Amino acid sequence: MRSEAAIMGTNINVELWHEDEECGEEAAVAVIEEMHRIDHLMSTYKPESELSRINRDAAISPVAAGHELVGLIQDALALSELTEGAFDITYASVGYMYDYRQRRRPDVAEIDEKLPAVDYRHVVVDPQAGTISFKATGVRIDLGGIAKGYAVEQGVEILRARGVQHAIVTAGGDSRILGDRRGRPWVVGVRDPRNRGKIVARIPLVDEAISTSGDYERYFEEDGVRYHHIINPSTGKSAGAVRSVTIVGPEATRTDGLSTSVFVLGVHAGMELVNRLPDVEAVIVDKDGQLFYSSGFETGT
Ligand code: ADP
Ligand code: MG
Repeated sequence: MRSEAAIMGTNINVELWHEDEECGEEAAVAVIEEMHRIDHLMSTYKPESELSRINRDAAISPVAAGHELVGLIQDALALSELTEGAFDITYASVGYMYDYRQRRRPDVAEIDEKLPAVDYRHVVVDPQAGTISFKATGVRIDLGGIAKGYAVEQGVEILRARGVQHAIVTAGGDSRILGDRRGRPWVVGVRDPRNRGKIVARIPLVDEAISTSGDYERYFEEDGVRYHHIINPSTGKSAGAVRSVTIVGPEATRTDGLSTSVFVLGVHAGMELVNRLPDVEAVIVDKDGQLFYSSGFETGT
C-alpha cells in the first residue's frame, strides 16, 4: 500500500507490504504521525517548538531540551567535526535571512555582520543536564540538513516494530528502505538537476538509506546567480561547486547529513571524504553536469 502527506515543507511517501491490509494502513498512519511529531519538535517556523526555544534563549542561559533533540544536536556537531565545518547547524545564523519563495537574500554587509555567529563550536551540549547553550550572541541553529533523514529512519523503525519487512519511507530527497521489494531490490533514481522528470542514474537498494541534496529544490535566480538552500558556512552564501549529491549508506540521518556536507565540500574534497568512510557511497553531479561516482560504486546507470 501507499500513503502520502505534506509535512516539514516536503512530500512524505510511505510504501509498504503487509499481509493484513488494515494493519498496513495503521502502520502507515503511525509513520505520518511520527513525522508530524518530529516536525513540531524541530521546526524553526513554529515559535513554540523546542528548537525555537533554544534559538531564543540559549545565548542567555542553558535551555533544557529533550534527550532526542540533545542526541540529534550531538550527531550534528560530530558531523561538523568530521567535515571540518562543511556541515554546520549554525549556518542558520546567516541562513535565516534567505527566503527563497520571497526571493530575499542578505546583502554583503548583513552577511559580514552575522557570519561570526556561524561556527558549530559556539554550541555547547550538556548531556547530563540535558541542556543546550550558545557561547555567542546571534547564534541560531537549524536541523534542516538532517531532520528528514532522521524522520524517515524513525518511520522505518516504527514499521519494523509492527512486523513490516518490505517498505520505503521517503521525505523529500531522503529515503530509508526496509528489506527488498519482495525478491528484487528497490530502485531509486538520481534526478537530473536541470531536467525535471529525467533520471541520470538508477541505484538498486536493499535495506539501505539514500539522500540527495540538490540546488534545484529551493532556489531563486538573480543576474544569472542561483541562490539556493545549501549554505557554505565559511562564506554565508549558497554553495556553488555542484548541482546535486546523492549519498547511499546504512542510516538515513547520516546519509542526509553527508549529502548536505558533500554538497558544500564539492567533488574533490567531497569524494575524498566519502572514499575514506567505509559505509557510504556517493554520486555527484558537478556544476557542468558531469557525473562522478565514489570508488565503491560499481552499479553505474
Ligand atoms: P533538503 O532539505 O532539500 O532535503 P538537504 O538535505 O540538502 O536538502 O538539506 C538542506 C537543508 O539543510 C537546508 O534547507 C538547511 O535547512 C540546511 N543547511 C543548509 N546549509 C547547511 C550546512 N552548511 N550545514 C548544515 N545544514 C545546512
Ligand atoms: Mg541532507
